[in-house]
Amino acid sequence: MSEEPTLHSRRALILKFDLPISKTREFWESLKNGKFVTTKCMKCGNVCFPPQSDCPKCMGGEFEWVDLGRDATLITCTHVSVRPPSFTGSDPYIIAIGEFPGGTKVLAWLEGVKREEAMPGMKLRVEGRNSAEGNPFYVFVRA
Ligand SMILES: [Zn+2]
Repeated sequence: MSEEPTLHSRRALILKFDLPISKTREFWESLKNGKFVTTKCMKCGNVCFPPQSDCPKCMGGEFEWVDLGRDATLITCTHVSVRPPSFTGSDPYIIAIGEFPGGTKVLAWLEGVKREEAMPGMKLRVEGRNSAEGNPFYVFVRA
């Protein structure tokens, strides 16, 4: 296998993108108001997170918004010390999967908890935040 000659640039590559949110606007608006909602398929009752405009189970396109509440239970988590390039400016962090009553699972950063304290079964609460750029996001904190 011959290797092609390559110029190695050490400049950072910045990727900027816009994510369309028209079909999930309700989620972001609710988050601003302290509510954590998602979509429920009106045909088969499948509750999805993140919110979906088409049901991955039955392909139905009609859905309603349901309130998941704020309380979840930690199912599993991982401590990320080797960050991906877009997060090298962040301190090491914990990514957690929290399960809401009813079984919906949500992946989010776990904030304010030391890695040795994060244990399955821990009671969590989901909270809305805004990034430095003004974009809304959500995290888990200890309940
Ligand atoms: Zn469905």
